[in-house]
Amino acid sequence: MQQAKKYVWPLLILAVFEAVAVTLWLTKHNLFYLFNFSYIGLSVSLGIFLFIRKYRHARRVVQLLVGLYMLVYLGLICRENMQIEGFWYYLFTGVFEAATIHYAVAKIFGPLLFGRGWCGYACWTAMVLDFLPYKVPAQPRKKLGWIRYVTFAASLVFVGALFVSGTGRIERIMFWAFIIGNAAYYAIGIALAFRFKDNRAFCKYVCPVTVFLKPMSYFSLLRVTCDKEKCVSCGKCRKVCPMDVDMTDNSRQRENGTECILCMECVKNCPRGAL
Ligand code: SF4
Ligand code: SF4
Ligand code: SF4
Repeated sequence: MQQAKKYVWPLLILAVFEAVAVTLWLTKHNLFYLFNFSYIGLSVSLGIFLFIRKYRHARRVVQLLVGLYMLVYLGLICRENMQIEGFWYYLFTGVFEAATIHYAVAKIFGPLLFGRGWCGYACWTAMVLDFLPYKVPAQPRKKLGWIRYVTFAASLVFVGALFVSGTGRIERIMFWAFIIGNAAYYAIGIALAFRFKDNRAFCKYVCPVTVFLKPMSYFSLLRVTCDKEKCVSCGKCRKVCPMDVDMTDNSRQRENGTECILCMECVKNCPRGAL
């Protein structure tokens, strides 16, 4: 019975994704949503299942399954711009489709439930950055978080300017914006990782999506907490955190609390099972 109980989480997550899949399929009369959210739900559930089975690369499996699906299938084959520019584009056209649904589920309302799980398990930018050698930052965090507001504003101004210009080739431009934008993200992300000896430097300083993710994940239901009775203050958890979070502090204001990507490295490395 105890054994079976362990698998409640993957089943619960699968049920949540299936509920979204069926609701969107029936309300939007589009079978794509059933396939899309079922696939993502199955991938995430598989990852949690593998994590429970203590498979070392469980998170990487989900990152590759979801990240490649979104980048290659949705982005390159279906030509959907799933980046922030695509979100602004659909928002301005008043259509609740593709990127607007993706943002609502993964990056705006979803984080109230699962924090920045997107950043740990699904983002196709981080999927590549996490292959780089600096899994744990080798330098202290820089005060460069303001850059995210510049990139956020730039994405908004770019799409706003396209609409104001009245160009008839906007769909084509959005597709190329997806290609060029992704290439730029990878180039900047890799350069910053080597410059700051930190795989996640792009996430910490540049990514415009964090303007949505950070405030919403502050209220996240799912978060790493510390059992103070068990903790012996050995500091091992903080040493392995890629995002410089103080996970031993249970308050919502904890240091870099809205940066947690739920990678579970701290949990795996705690010798006392306190997290
Ligand atoms: S911060 Fe941005 S680039 Fe990094 S994982 Fe999250 S969404 Fe992806
Ligand atoms: S190591 Fe722990 S606190 Fe740090 S990002 Fe991963 S789950 Fe969050
Ligand atoms: S690794 Fe565990 S025991 Fe050590 S400080 Fe972190 S929570 Fe406490």
